[in-house]
Amino acid sequence: MTDDLGQYRGRRAKVIATLGPASRDPEVIADLFEAGADVFRLNFSHGSQEDHAKSVVAIRQIEKDRERPITVLMDLQGPKLRVGPFEGGKVLLKTGANFRLDLDPALGTEKRVCLPHPEIFAALKPGSNLLVDDGHLRFRVKSCGKDFAETEVVIAGTISDRKGVNVPDVTLAIPAMTDKDKADLQFGLSQGVDWVALSFVQRPEDVAEVRAAVKGRAGIVSKLEKPAALDQLDAIVDLSDAVMVARGDLGVEMPLEQVPILQKRIIRSCRKRGKPVVVATQMLDSMIKSPMPTRAEASDVATAIYDGADAVMLSAETAAGQFPVRAVATMHRIIKQVESDEHYVSLMDAGRHDPEHSSPGAITAAARQIGQTLKAAAIVTFTTSGTTTLRAARERPDSPVMCITPNVAAGRRMGLVWGVHAVVGDFIHSVDDIGDVAVDAAVKSGIAKDGQALVITAGMPFGKVGSTNMVRVVWVGGETGMQ
Ligand code: PEP
Repeated sequence: MTDDLGQYRGRRAKVIATLGPASRDPEVIADLFEAGADVFRLNFSHGSQEDHAKSVVAIRQIEKDRERPITVLMDLQGPKLRVGPFEGGKVLLKTGANFRLDLDPALGTEKRVCLPHPEIFAALKPGSNLLVDDGHLRFRVKSCGKDFAETEVVIAGTISDRKGVNVPDVTLAIPAMTDKDKADLQFGLSQGVDWVALSFVQRPEDVAEVRAAVKGRAGIVSKLEKPAALDQLDAIVDLSDAVMVARGDLGVEMPLEQVPILQKRIIRSCRKRGKPVVVATQMLDSMIKSPMPTRAEASDVATAIYDGADAVMLSAETAAGQFPVRAVATMHRIIKQVESDEHYVSLMDAGRHDPEHSSPGAITAAARQIGQTLKAAAIVTFTTSGTTTLRAARERPDSPVMCITPNVAAGRRMGLVWGVHAVVGDFIHSVDDIGDVAVDAAVKSGIAKDGQALVITAGMPFGKVGSTNMVRVVWVGGETGMQ
């Protein structure tokens, strides 16, 4: 247990494990980490603040024991739209029937139910669709006013108390965060979470609103699950620190067959902008109940990796499933296998975007090229904010990206980012130190050995954010390179 402290995991894409009743025990969290979880997701749709606080304590203890930064991502619930309760708890609706939704709090019947969200009625138009219970039922609006909608049942079924409602065709005039989200956000920040995921982002302003509340204390992940957000994809990616392809709700709000296409479109937009992108939901869904995934699920994880996603996420598999540790280990193995395929390397090359037209962009692209020529063991980035590291990861180099930083928050945040192995410490006292520090950290992490090159990038003077302006090569074991 003590001989592999701070070791590189040997893979580029990261694994996010959601904690829940099946995995909140500190020992299980430690097992998830050992099996390959790089990021722990606290899902504030479930569990109490106290549950999440205990998880953070357990994670920070593992971080200390294992001598490496670990990433915590809090996921805000966002606005949950729901119908009210029914007489007898549920009713059966038939195809073609008329069904009314309104603001009357009286119990629902087969003729009507309360939908206590005036913002929905304000946005609906004749022809809009209302989806209930993850799309199991569909109503089409025939006529509507500021406090009602008369609909036709298009997809029939049983509707029961407080089932969730999706309204895909419209942008709703609801704030980015509910009162619960605001309280959870302050709580999460007080616990030192590294990333905050915002659910149901509809417009760039939603991201700006959360940024104003977060005040730089965490990175912001925009969860893309609304068609309205996809209409402004690039603007939302520009304003976010990272993005999640939230395929659960996306597949309800959009036709299912669009999800794979959107997944690729979102990943492309993020890779171009150097923003980490997470592919989420149902990746190994059958492992909730089975010790083995289906072949199709293994293939789904592999596709996200071949597309160049920064991270793949487990939700119910680790939060509530019977095999949380196996699910992480399985994901770890699939990623490693894909990354060892020579086709993967050529796909990363082919999917690379032109360097950003800036001197940091050009220097970072040159560092990747130098690394490729020298078959370098790593691109080593010295960073305070993480910006230099993110730039290097955008280039999807052939070798891992080391992040050496005195800033524990930056090191932790990099756990979500493709290829990055972070080492936190106050190592640099003068520019002359960087070669020795890079070699020492790369060797101790198991990334480099004698005779291998390291390509270093950094921004000088240290501490000035976003100013990558230096590239240098060092050789492990002394000056060489002429083999
Ligand atoms: C999703 O919808 O895919 C998702 C990740 O969001 P949540 O699980 O929080 O609903």
